[in-house]
Amino acid sequence: MAYDRTNIFARILRGELPAKKIYEDEYALAFHDIRPLAPVHGLVIPKGEYVSFHDFAAKAAPAELAGFFRAVGKAAKLLGVTDDGFRLLVNNGADAHQEVPHFHVHIFGGKSLGPMLPRSGD
Ligand code: 5GP
Repeated sequence: MAYDRTNIFARILRGELPAKKIYEDEYALAFHDIRPLAPVHGLVIPKGEYVSFHDFAAKAAPAELAGFFRAVGKAAKLLGVTDDGFRLLVNNGADAHQEVPHFHVHIFGGKSLGPMLPRSGD
């Protein structure tokens, strides 16, 4: 799948759309999700053009991979969830219901989050 430069996160990266910033460096931008699913719900996106986690893992340079995941940790720290715990989630592709075709990591926290997923059949 080719990268679509009109996707909403590309527009946030270009400053065309606002976002409530948590953290930014040369590799990543972290901001609050517009429709939070937990008391803390952050998103971290790489600055490079990657459609999905799989695309990022396959194509990003080692410095981008390392810089990105370091930024996820910094964002979690700034969100204040590292002591009590937090969950990282990545939706990759159709079965995972990935909505925005620019790789992103969700950071959830601020309460006890319950089981990872509903059990099959729930
Ligand atoms: P996905 O399902 O692709 O893993 O998650 C996309 C996330 O992006 C959703 O949680 C959704 O609420 C969030 N989102 C969609 N549009 C915007 C936006 O314009 N601004 C922000 N901050 N979050 C957005």
